[in-house]
Amino acid sequence: MNILVINCGSSSLKYQLIDSKTEAVLAKGLCERIGIDGSLLTHQPAGKDKVKIETPMPNHTVAVKLVIEALTNTVHGVISSLDEIGAVGHRVVHGGEQFATSVIINETVMKAIEECNDLAPLHNPANLIGINSCKEIMPNVPMVAVFDTAFHQTMPEKAYLYGLPYEYYEKYKVRRYGFHGTSHDYVSDRAAQILGKKRTDLKIIVCHLGNGASVSAVDHGKCVDTSMGLTPLEGLIMGTRSGDIDPAICDFICQKEHLSPAEMNNILNKKSGVFGMSGVSSDFRDIEAAADEGNKLAQAALDAFYYRVAKYIGAYTAAMNGIDIIAFTAGVGENNQVGRKEICAYLGYLGTELDVDRNNVRGEERIISKEGSKVTLMAIPTNEELAIARQTLALVQS
Ligand code: AMP
Repeated sequence: MNILVINCGSSSLKYQLIDSKTEAVLAKGLCERIGIDGSLLTHQPAGKDKVKIETPMPNHTVAVKLVIEALTNTVHGVISSLDEIGAVGHRVVHGGEQFATSVIINETVMKAIEECNDLAPLHNPANLIGINSCKEIMPNVPMVAVFDTAFHQTMPEKAYLYGLPYEYYEKYKVRRYGFHGTSHDYVSDRAAQILGKKRTDLKIIVCHLGNGASVSAVDHGKCVDTSMGLTPLEGLIMGTRSGDIDPAICDFICQKEHLSPAEMNNILNKKSGVFGMSGVSSDFRDIEAAADEGNKLAQAALDAFYYRVAKYIGAYTAAMNGIDIIAFTAGVGENNQVGRKEICAYLGYLGTELDVDRNNVRGEERIISKEGSKVTLMAIPTNEELAIARQTLALVQS
């Protein structure tokens, strides 16, 4: 069965068509600037040339139509008709406390996703638009929602409650949810498989280090803590997000700079992180290049980023009373050997021994610790789309 995986943003739509039998990506692409002038569809069929189609996309339904046209096109298509799409898997950012697993989408599920809009106002409404557009064009194709938050729903109360008046949890469900769950689930599972062990026998820390970054503690197969919170702003220092700060800083800066809470929120999400610290870029490659050329702020941003990751690893080792595997994933985690080395330099007390030669790897699954290291260090490329396709298949076949 071919499964279409959709990741819908407010003005974008990413897709992959995956053959569930071989798990091959038949085609993938991106619609950009939906609802804005200059809409663009970039379509990459496997084994053929990339196609760029510039055409108006006033809304997501038009974008989905164009994606289907691209997939079924006689020249750059990969299937002959819509009938060859057996199911659609949708990435949904926030499932609140209602969804601890992926689900088949029906009216009740749609309503429940909508109820989580408050918790992810930038993401969930866009995800729903994507679902509605697909339903309009493929009314008879089963659809599945895969939530970024679901994997973290196993966290115990002590990990998800904030030190706030309990009424905010009761009234507004203010608590830690965590994000990147599909990636943490996939990578922790792969880590165990690569070692030929069961995830349920292991204590694993996954470091998802991309533009957005988070760490999770996966104890015997279940997530027991994670660094992102009510929103994806908490935790690590990220590309443009601050991660953990003293909450009193917000009021302090608002008063000094005459900012509204919304403006402050925007600064914390879009102008902070290694971008705000370095003033160079949110891209780690640019920051590294600047640091290599002697830019002290760039070096300071990188140092703070690595240090924060190492602190979380220490905290989660304590939370699980031990650690068997530390797995690095996402853009920086998969590709940046310097970053992994800098982080691992803090971890000698755990008995970790990074192998410099093995660590010289990019975008490939590999054990990067020395033989005999007390903790196994790994680089594992994440594959959220494949994870979504697998979960979609499991649900539509059940
Ligand atoms: P992601 O959000 O997972 O796509 O990750 C994006 C981040 O990964 C960007 O900051 C990139 O600079 C970083 N990244 C990707 N490839 C490399 C690389 N080869 N070396 C260092 N950073 C990289």
